[in-house]
Amino acid sequence: MAWHLAERGASVTVLEREAAPAMGSTGRSAAGVRVQFTIEANVRLSLYSLPVYREFRERYGHDVGYRPIGYLLLVPPERWASHLDAVRIQHRLGAPVEVLTPREAVAYVPFRTEGLAGATYGPWDGVIDPHLATHAWVTMARERGVRFRFDAPVRRVRRSGSGWRVETPTGAVACGWMVNAAGAWSAEVAALAGLELPVVPKRVQIFLSEAVDDPRTYPLTIDVGSGVYLRSEGERILFGLDDPAQEPGFAEGLEPAWLEHVLRTAVRRFPWFADLGIDVRGSWWGYYAVTPDHSPVIGPHPDAEGWIDACGFSGHGIMHAPATGRAVAELICGDAPGEVDVSAFGHDRFTRDHPVEAHVF
Ligand SMILES: Cc1cc2nc3c(=O)[nH]c(=O)nc-3n(C[C@H](O)[C@H](O)[C@H](O)COP(=O)(O)OP(=O)(O)OC[C@H]3O[C@@H](n4cnc5c(N)ncnc54)[C@H](O)[C@@H]3O)c2cc1C
Repeated sequence: MAWHLAERGASVTVLEREAAPAMGSTGRSAAGVRVQFTIEANVRLSLYSLPVYREFRERYGHDVGYRPIGYLLLVPPERWASHLDAVRIQHRLGAPVEVLTPREAVAYVPFRTEGLAGATYGPWDGVIDPHLATHAWVTMARERGVRFRFDAPVRRVRRSGSGWRVETPTGAVACGWMVNAAGAWSAEVAALAGLELPVVPKRVQIFLSEAVDDPRTYPLTIDVGSGVYLRSEGERILFGLDDPAQEPGFAEGLEPAWLEHVLRTAVRRFPWFADLGIDVRGSWWGYYAVTPDHSPVIGPHPDAEGWIDACGFSGHGIMHAPATGRAVAELICGDAPGEVDVSAFGHDRFTRDHPVEAHVF
């Protein structure tokens, strides 16, 4: 975002509470990127973003660790018709997605094929390295003159003329535009300016296995019926499951009872989980920034001129970061609607009671 703005000639200061980049949710994600979404607006964010990651080295000279290991979605009969509707949207927009039978899909990763109608595989989908990517953007932004201030928590925000005065313990910044990209903490930052924002933190746990004896790299595989997901992480398996009962808030730590539940759920589709050794010390947790419709808020705040929110990514912030950066720069620099259309993600969908419709994977 900062880089996109600076590229358009804007003077940008980034205020970061932590001592280094990628210490929020970005450094704790599963690092997945995919084009397989159910609504056009999300597919378009991916179709902008994935080629940026894929071609990062050629375009900008940095490695961001993009590996197209694929996303494999295993779909039960009751979701198959709507899933194929989504595939039609993806194909119409030019997203490469293959429709497979369960038997074909089993070539990618071992699973029980019973109770599945089909599968889809996205060959562009895969993973990046969020640390490498963040450091690449920071380096590129610095080269364009962006100032980064770490250990600079925003503590107070108030109007100053037609702009803002943003205060941290180590000094204040005056600016014409304020971009709130504080992830799971975005509602707190908005509240400093007296603004409401429907974004709440939600703890998400993610688990790591011991090494498994299979030379294949498993794609990011989602058992859509149960929600269990897994992928290869080197010789190990990274896996998890969204907990719908997890209360919003900054809960901390891993819960053994949840791990038990995830394992019991996973073993039904992936019987080899019964023999999986778990590396609890290598497992971790972080925060989703969740909105009521599990889609981001990208756009001007209705109650404050010169304030843009870019948050609430609800588990998709890594994969949609390039498009978001571009869209925010276009909004601020006056060339919107430009390359990236984020109108579906504006605040007005909440006031019009018109949520972004999307299945949560
Ligand atoms: C377990 C897990 C798995 C995930 N898997 C995926 C995935 O596979 N693919 C995907 O695309 N996404 C995934 N996500 C979501 C993804 O991590 C987030 O959507 C993304 O990192 C959001 O980026 P961000 O920059 O908005 O937020 P963050 O990376 O959290 O950055 C926000 C920053 O704001 C700073 N901040 C907060 N308050 C203040 C303040 N008052 N002043 C100054 N700075 C402040 C924080 O320190 C932080 O560095 C996952 C998340 C988790 C937790």
